[in-house]
Amino acid sequence: MATYQHILLAIDLTEDAAEVVARGKSLSEVYGAKLSIVHVIEPISFTYGGDIPLDFSGVQEEIEKQATAQLAALAGPLGIDEQSQHIVLGRPESEIHNLAQEIGADLIVVGSHGRHGLALIFGSTANGVLHGAGCDVLAVRVARHS
Ligand code: AMP
Repeated sequence: MATYQHILLAIDLTEDAAEVVARGKSLSEVYGAKLSIVHVIEPISFTYGGDIPLDFSGVQEEIEKQATAQLAALAGPLGIDEQSQHIVLGRPESEIHNLAQEIGADLIVVGSHGRHGLALIFGSTANGVLHGAGCDVLAVRVARHS
C-alpha cells in the first residue's frame, strides 16, 4: 500500500488552520508520517508594489515575529520541532511548492472553502497549490467562518 512519509501543512493562521491541522495530524498518525508546517508571509512591498515611499521593515519584522509565535503554538501540540516550522516570505503558492520540494514532502494539506462562481475561476490558494505541485495535495473542506 502506498503511504505518505512527509506531510506539509500549509497554514494561513486564520480559524481555518485548526481544521487543516486536525486532518494533517490524523493522517500523520495513520501513515506514521513526519509532519512539517508552513506559513507564508506576503511582503508588504508586494501589496503596495513599492508605490508608497515608506519604510515598512519594522512592521514586517513584527508580523514575522507574531506569525512565528502563532505557528509555534499550533505546531507544539503536534510534536513538530522548530526545524520543521517554516515561516517564509513570498507568494504562498510558489513558496509552498518550493518548500515541499526542498524538504521532500509527498503530501501538502491545505484548506479549501469550495468556492463557486468568479472566485472559482480566479482560483484560491488551494487551487494555486494544486496546480504545479510536485506531489499530492489534499484540500480539506473547511467551514466558512466569514
Ligand atoms: P485561501 O485560498 O486564502 O482561502 O486559502 C486556502 C488555504 O490555503 C488555507 O486554508 C491554507 O491551507 C492555505 N494558505 C492560504 N494562505 C496561506 C499562507 N499565507 N501560508 C500558508 N498557507 C496558506
